[in-house]
Amino acid sequence: MSKKTPEWESLTHRHAPVGSEQAFEATALSLGELFLYETHRFATRHRLDVVHLRALSFLQQANKYSDTSVALVDHLGLTKGTVSKSIALLAQRGLLRKVPDLVDRRRLHLQLTDAGQETARAFAEHLQWSRLTALLTPEQRAAVDGALKTILRTSQQLNERRTFGLCRTCRRFRPEGDGGFCLLTQEALTPHQTHQRCREHEPPPAR
Ligand code: SF4
Repeated sequence: MSKKTPEWESLTHRHAPVGSEQAFEATALSLGELFLYETHRFATRHRLDVVHLRALSFLQQANKYSDTSVALVDHLGLTKGTVSKSIALLAQRGLLRKVPDLVDRRRLHLQLTDAGQETARAFAEHLQWSRLTALLTPEQRAAVDGALKTILRTSQQLNERRTFGLCRTCRRFRPEGDGGFCLLTQEALTPHQTHQRCREHEPPPAR
């Protein structure tokens, strides 16, 4: 008895041999569509919009130079008005709070509350990243990660988007013990800060 081809497989690979550009494009688009669908599903269940989840996910990982409304406007690629409304709603729902900077009191940091942290964590779990990546061997993960980074960088360059990458992968990062040093701000970085995302991040030049 012939085995029935799963719907997604027939959609992504029909008429396109494995390794061809068409097959790769179809798989990548299907994956993007699937994550978008799951994001909408989680948002609806928690009475939030997708933009609210994107804001919570980013703020959960943002460093002290990036947890501001200006950085959020940049990251989300939306208008100031839309982002202000989202911040107000998240604050009203008790998911984030505004905290004045210790040096410049006019500057406000957007910090997730415990409830905001919990929602961002639950969203990451809903997407099942750790379960999915566990399907791959370390060698496969390295190969996929390398390929995705190339696509991501190129796409960000083509669309003139900031990278908002991890501090440790920035060209201005210098390791120091368990932490590091930022050549841009001339400030020491704690071990935790070196794993956060930054608005000023710039990848090292391609070799
Ligand atoms: S090293 Fe780069 S990513 Fe890290 S804080 Fe400095 S500018 Fe940001």
